[in-house]
Amino acid sequence: METVTASPEETEALAASLARGLRAGDVVAVAGELGAGKTTFVRGAARALGVTGPVSSPTFTIGHRYEAPTPVAHLDLYRLAGIDPAEWGDLEPYFEGTVAFVEWPEHAGDWLPRPRASVTLSHVDETHRRVAITGEDDPGV
Ligand code: ADP
Ligand code: MG
Repeated sequence: METVTASPEETEALAASLARGLRAGDVVAVAGELGAGKTTFVRGAARALGVTGPVSSPTFTIGHRYEAPTPVAHLDLYRLAGIDPAEWGDLEPYFEGTVAFVEWPEHAGDWLPRPRASVTLSHVDETHRRVAITGEDDPGV
């Protein structure tokens, strides 16, 4: 599906509707340029999955893991130039037993587990974003 959202709140609400169809072990790739709304999307999804604290882009680490009824992982691979087995060893725990959202998924190359859903955000104007979601099966949105 593809739609245009008119505010960060609308992007969060769209993410929440996707999140309701997710379960432990699912990976969601969230692609798009800087400022496109990837972290906003992940925040909406994480809230819907029961994460109550702040959800911000991981800055000093590659990922965050949030406790929730189903734990939620949020990775930002922006700084990753490529993955070798040692680096994958550091990342793999984020995917264990979680619903995992991955910003800059293209930086993981072939290492990323197959996403249940792939989200691509792009700028339309200051407040509008185009959001395309494709799924391995119907992600429920
Ligand atoms: P990214 O993680 O892709 O770099 P962020 O989610 O951190 O992007 O930032 C997106 C910025 O764009 C935020 O400041 C947000 O408030 C703003 N914004 C404006 N309109 C929208 C929209 N429709 N959807 C998502 N974010 C939006
Ligand atoms: Mg971000």
